[in-house]
Amino acid sequence: MKNKFNELISNLKKCRLCEKKFGFEPHPVILGNANSKIVQISQAPSATVHETLKPFTDQSGKKLKYEWYQISDEDFYNPNNFYIAALAHCYPGKDKNGNDRMPPKVCYETWIKKELELINNEIYVVIGAKAAKTFFPNDNFNDLIFKDNYINGKLAIVLPHPSPLNIKWFKDHPKFLQDRIIEIRKEIKTILKIK
Ligand code: SF4
Repeated sequence: MKNKFNELISNLKKCRLCEKKFGFEPHPVILGNANSKIVQISQAPSATVHETLKPFTDQSGKKLKYEWYQISDEDFYNPNNFYIAALAHCYPGKDKNGNDRMPPKVCYETWIKKELELINNEIYVVIGAKAAKTFFPNDNFNDLIFKDNYINGKLAIVLPHPSPLNIKWFKDHPKFLQDRIIEIRKEIKTILKIK
């Protein structure tokens, strides 16, 4: 199983399937290993991550790591703790209106689905409406955030996007910061065995 995973990752690092569509060389971002305790899945790497290859170093990342999880970079980037994935491994570029393109579906089908089958994680954390839609196509996004969900029989926590631009959502759902994130933080720290 481990060899299969290593082979998959080695091929994934060389993947250039979307080069024509993007118009630039894709940079697959992969952090984690076959035994990461938490598989965290968001939408797609940003333009900055395309260069640095280190996700969640922006304002959204700071909120996620330091305010919501309340863990250090050392714990967050420890591959035994988090497998940091997204619906696509590469930054997809901008569309003609200057917005980030949607993550290419081919990535999920070609790589992510297979990775998820091979990782021996304990729980999932799904970030943002687009990632949630992939795993729970028939559920209301807000309902998913306030309850425990399951992927492959394992607990799946759903989070809103931690972007500082997401102001309205937090205003409309004060219970998230008052109660829900406290339960989620406790669950994450229990899994990671940190205080
Ligand atoms: S987004 Fe996924 S499928 Fe497309 S080039 Fe990157 S790794 Fe390959």
